[in-house]
Amino acid sequence: ISTTNGKAFAVLGLGRSGLTAACALAQSGADVWAWDDNADGRAKAAEAGLKVVDLGNCDWTAVQSLVMSPGIPLTHPVPHPVALAAQATGVEVICEVELLYRACPDATFVGITGTNGKSTTTSLIAHILAQAGRPVAVGGNLGTPALELPMLESDGVYVLEMSSYQLDLLSQLRFDIALLLNFSPDHLDRHGDMAGYIKAKLHIFDRQEKDDAAIIGMDDPDSRQVFDQINSLGNCKAIPISGNTRLAEGVFAAQGQLIDDRFASEEQILDLQSVERLPGDHNHQNAAAAFACCRRLNLTNDAIVAGMKSFPGLAHRQQLVAQQGNIRYINDSKATNADAAARAISSYENIYWIAGGRAKDGGISSLKPLFSRIRKAYLIGECAEDFARQIGKDLPYTQCQTLDRAIAQAAKDAQHDNCDNAVVLLSPACASWDQYRSFEVRGDHFRECVQKLTQSNNLEQ
Ligand code: ADP
Repeated sequence: ISTTNGKAFAVLGLGRSGLTAACALAQSGADVWAWDDNADGRAKAAEAGLKVVDLGNCDWTAVQSLVMSPGIPLTHPVPHPVALAAQATGVEVICEVELLYRACPDATFVGITGTNGKSTTTSLIAHILAQAGRPVAVGGNLGTPALELPMLESDGVYVLEMSSYQLDLLSQLRFDIALLLNFSPDHLDRHGDMAGYIKAKLHIFDRQEKDDAAIIGMDDPDSRQVFDQINSLGNCKAIPISGNTRLAEGVFAAQGQLIDDRFASEEQILDLQSVERLPGDHNHQNAAAAFACCRRLNLTNDAIVAGMKSFPGLAHRQQLVAQQGNIRYINDSKATNADAAARAISSYENIYWIAGGRAKDGGISSLKPLFSRIRKAYLIGECAEDFARQIGKDLPYTQCQTLDRAIAQAAKDAQHDNCDNAVVLLSPACASWDQYRSFEVRGDHFRECVQKLTQSNNLEQ
């Protein structure tokens, strides 16, 4: 990545990805001006040998591009003054993913966005490609910062999870395949309202051309509208996908069967119900999207099916951590609200449900229609009393306070009841912060407790 005009790259925000971007630019010979509003960030940059320049007070005519961390507001609620100053002088404002594209323009770029399922779909596509032997790198909003990824040639594929914040910060990147999974009202703080949020996500289709594909979920009204819009524009090939509804000339799952109808042939691909790591309609939507994407990348049906079957799943998202006899232990710690918990609960029956933590607005009353799938609830964390009140007489429950006690009690009850396909499910419908640093730490604790318990059960038997 280089400047042709001798101008500098300004980098605002020096967290992991900003610092990586600044160092990569400096290594490639660019003049880099690094800045963070926070003194810690500036100290790290100085330590890394970068030039620290106050971007609140600099000569923008000497700057080619402002590279901004996606966490910094470009528009809503108020634009960062540095971004405003750059734009006022006609300086482009971009993110590190844009720089990756400029460094490796010959590789194939796949971008994935949507409110839910981005990480799962991104990892699934990358896994299928890697299993099929394609050079692949996965990143973006997920895990590794873009400029820490390996440089790929024309046979390589970057599979990038894109937040709407990152999509706001692209200028030349054109996705060969752009996926939009779904919309639900979320993250509205950054974009103001639903219209602003949808508009930000639509940038994933910017600059697409005839040979490119737009893969779009049809399972919510806003996404269906986007499909109609992109399809009628006709700049690229629009492919509809669904996790639960038959579609003409798309890829869909119906009654758990994955079907490719892109060429109106209703080709039966895979019984998704037999794929343990992709449970529920929402995951079937992710699978349909991944199939459409990988076919577009010229993989065979067999290669895709093999990749789906060997997908290990993502930690903390309906992750099977142990099975003992007919009891499965599932870690869904990522479910920090009732909506997410509803998806997990809808995926199983005979559930011993561990819930609670720091409650979000709305509580769990929306889950009542699903209570028939739950045999008993085990309540933990600071909202346990409140959840107990909401459950009332609709479900047996017990107060456990802590996760280890909840697991022990749930396992005991499941063994005693001895029903088929029992599931001890941590899907808390709450944030973790009352008892844990993050949902990841909570999920890891669940896994450790379950492993200890199942190992000691094995010793006793
Ligand atoms: P994201 O990266 O968009 O946050 P994840 O793949 O991490 O999404 O999944 C987070 C949670 O969202 C999962 O635990 C699951 O409950 C739910 N989920 C996954 N895929 C979908 C989907 N296609 N539609 C709706 N919800 C989904």
